[in-house]
Amino acid sequence: MNAIPKPEIAAVHSNAQLGPQFAVRNPATQEIIGTLPNLTAAQIADAVSKAAAAQARWASMPVRDRLRILSRFADLLCDQKDAVASVISREAGKPQAEAFATEILVVLDTVKYLKNNLPGFLRPEPIPHGNPAMKLKSGQLLREAYGVVGIISPWNYPFSVPSVQTLTALATGNAVVLKPSEFTPYSSLELQRLLREAGLDRELLQVITGEGGAGAALLATNVQKVVFTGSVATGKRVAQAAAARLLPVVLELGGKDPMIVLEDADVDVASSAAVWGAFMNAGQTCLSVERCYVHERIYEKFLEQCVEKTAKLRIGSTHPLRHDEPGKDGFQRAQRMGHPDQDGAPQAEIDVGPMIHERQLGIVQSHVQDAVARGARLLAGGKPLPSLGPNFFAPTILADVDHSMKIMREETFGPTLPVRSFKTEDEAIALANNSEYGLAASIFTGDRKRGEALARRIVAGTVMVNDVLACFGISEAPHGGVKASGIGRTHGRFGLEEMVWPKYVDSDRLPRMKKLWWYGYGPAFAQQMGGFVDLLFAKKLINVMLDDESLRDGLQSPSVTDPPIEEKLKILHLMEDLGIDLADIGLPGAGPRAVADVEMLAKEIATCRLKIKPNCAARTHENDIRPVAEISQRAGIAIDVACFLGSSPIRRYTENWTDDFLLTTTEKAVSYAKSLGLEVMYVTEDTSRCDPETVKRLYSTAINYGATAIVICDTVGHATPSGVQALIRFVLDEVVKPSGQKVRVDWHGHSDRGLAVANSLAALAAGADCVHGTALGIGERVGNTQMDQMLVNLKLMEIEPWAEQDLTKLKEYCITVSQATGVPIPRNYPVMGEDAFRTATGVHAAAVIKAFRKGDIELANSVYSGVPSHYFGLEQIIEIGPMSGKSNVIFWLERKGMTASEELVDRIFQRAKASDRCLTEEEILACCQKVSAET
Ligand code: NAD
Repeated sequence: MNAIPKPEIAAVHSNAQLGPQFAVRNPATQEIIGTLPNLTAAQIADAVSKAAAAQARWASMPVRDRLRILSRFADLLCDQKDAVASVISREAGKPQAEAFATEILVVLDTVKYLKNNLPGFLRPEPIPHGNPAMKLKSGQLLREAYGVVGIISPWNYPFSVPSVQTLTALATGNAVVLKPSEFTPYSSLELQRLLREAGLDRELLQVITGEGGAGAALLATNVQKVVFTGSVATGKRVAQAAAARLLPVVLELGGKDPMIVLEDADVDVASSAAVWGAFMNAGQTCLSVERCYVHERIYEKFLEQCVEKTAKLRIGSTHPLRHDEPGKDGFQRAQRMGHPDQDGAPQAEIDVGPMIHERQLGIVQSHVQDAVARGARLLAGGKPLPSLGPNFFAPTILADVDHSMKIMREETFGPTLPVRSFKTEDEAIALANNSEYGLAASIFTGDRKRGEALARRIVAGTVMVNDVLACFGISEAPHGGVKASGIGRTHGRFGLEEMVWPKYVDSDRLPRMKKLWWYGYGPAFAQQMGGFVDLLFAKKLINVMLDDESLRDGLQSPSVTDPPIEEKLKILHLMEDLGIDLADIGLPGAGPRAVADVEMLAKEIATCRLKIKPNCAARTHENDIRPVAEISQRAGIAIDVACFLGSSPIRRYTENWTDDFLLTTTEKAVSYAKSLGLEVMYVTEDTSRCDPETVKRLYSTAINYGATAIVICDTVGHATPSGVQALIRFVLDEVVKPSGQKVRVDWHGHSDRGLAVANSLAALAAGADCVHGTALGIGERVGNTQMDQMLVNLKLMEIEPWAEQDLTKLKEYCITVSQATGVPIPRNYPVMGEDAFRTATGVHAAAVIKAFRKGDIELANSVYSGVPSHYFGLEQIIEIGPMSGKSNVIFWLERKGMTASEELVDRIFQRAKASDRCLTEEEILACCQKVSAET
């Protein structure tokens, strides 16, 4: 074993007056292992000033130079691990094995984590802006070191707790003044020694020794951040002192961690975990299993196995020597619980060491006595072991405990395992959450998914499924708690964030442009801003509805074949599968064939209990409205009637309609439909070209007579998105709101200017509730709003409820409509076109192929496409053409299950280069045959 060097104590204060000394004792024997100075407030303030002076240069060093010192530190620690482990176990009393596993390993892994992650973490992070008004700005987040970080540490993990925090603070560019526990200061002095040997400026890490007062003095200095680990009581004092100075603080405090053992757990595994989790480090771990809840079906068996395993534990001490007697390590005799040493020979290994001091032992004893007095069953231990030393307490198992006992409420921090049974999952979760603490918890179950689901219901910073405590050894995992267990995190990315403050830097891309929102306010500006507010926030797009008109308005296209009823039924079911809310199932007024089809469709909805709600188109005429009511009666299902009426001046002039005629027709039609028990969707054709006054009067009349939805139409595809927004807002403000009625506002648009989808989205943004469309946009002239494109966009824009909607049947829907109506899908049609997800270009295909090889379908489908194809039941296709690379060829062959030999790849590649288009499958297979014939 390496000799332990004499610690360098407060070297920076060599000329200063030292305060009184304090003794550090071996907890197993109470022998003094060293004495150290209790530094004064002035000395501590001096240490912080020196650290501050050194920090600026350290922070300006390249990250890799700082990490180089950490790497050398890790090498030294690895070389001297035995010596460091001896120092730890001598002053903390823990077995050497635990010093390696829970202290040194954790620290080495932290250095590795920092080396791998810090450069990326400190790189300026672009902050994209969502607000359209801010699009011309470019933002980035910088992470700045605080300056001097004060770290105050406990005794139970005297090396790993302060080291992880110190290394993280240093690596991010801070200096550290570390105040270790007065019970275990030598471990921190080892950290300081190794870092200085590794080349760290001595001022950058200074360990200040002393008792609680030294910690309080540190808080009164010019430190810029404090990371405190310790008890809740001290944590509250630290928080108060920090609050007085508005000092940011991380508090890692105590825990009362529950372990839940479900009935499907492996009892052998769970009992071993419980025994280790409760007794490791003599139970003096913040993450210890402090309470255990076991399903009643396995309760007794679990207890039996815990008792059996506890009886085999060896209790004792590995280091009874003084700190300043290096190299003479001997071993105290270990005692087997229930099996005292037969021969008295020294034991090289122990499982459980002493408690840190008598006060801690007293707390444990009082909790055990209180539990027994209140009816707990003592199954093992329950008493001190003075024959081993003053601070030993026998690992203790208590059964049938309840929450009236201190041992189930207060942090015991000793080798105790109190167990009680539960009947249901809900009861177990309620018991686990019944605590003022929330540090960690564990769940044991044979069903991982069940464990993970329950983990979500537990209020704790960490929940482990089928393990205990080990999360502390995962450098990536954030460590910390909620409720009384503290504030903030150490370890991993969250731990890194605690050591820096975020600085946001924003720079405008147009330095010569005055901003719109600067002074110069006037009515136009106010109106503009008001419009902006409305545009962005007026009405959240929630529960956007869709009305599918493929089987009515869509069929008005001159190139469409009216599909047979079987096809219509199939299309209806696909609409249902896609979650479409409403379907226009036809215009019965058109004649007997229409009546028959509408009736079949309505009956199908009724019989199959489809969720989709039917409506029928009708002129504002009794002859059209009546058949709707009759079909509704026969099918036994409500059908809304969509009564339409031309409204624009151009139509009125052409048709010789007066305003009065329109209003009377509206009044009569709506009243008639209502008298037949029908809900009315009142449709004004060509609304986008109608004058505002007429729009207002027509809709107000319809609403007055009972219409529950109004449909605003852009019948000839004339509108632009801003016009649509103005129209919708006008109808909402001037008609719907003043009516005081709950009226649905629908938008029905056409594609004449290629703006149908954009207009429909604008209508929704302005406050419309429902958009009408047809599959592939089929309909008169260039057609209606494309329903499929609406679905794609609503999903990708994550608009409720479409974000969650399964659209994998979208392809089937489009193909079915295309085939049933005889309207072909153009090759380059968005999403559904044959070429939408095909590529033959070398670079593009290479990226897609690399993503596939990473096993990440989502990545492969997104790397070269704004639409993830798998959302819609489609996939990326790689072709081989003159622009392709060899990776296209290899991938194509592999997908077909063929071996991509060099010769074959070469042959196909050459063939493709000579071609003026993508190769067909036959052409590629012909190459394959030729190559196989030649070899
Ligand atoms: P403690 O609160 O008694 O002491 C912690 C540190 O605070 C010591 O260095 C002590 O000298 C110092 N201190 C005491 N009074 C102070 C004051 N007024 N101002 C500033 N500093 C002061 O805790 P402890 O007994 O050393 O450690 C055990 C506790 O630590 C347990 O509650 C345990 O759960 C907790 N702990 C928590 C974590 C965690 O990560 N959440 C880890 C380890 C230990």
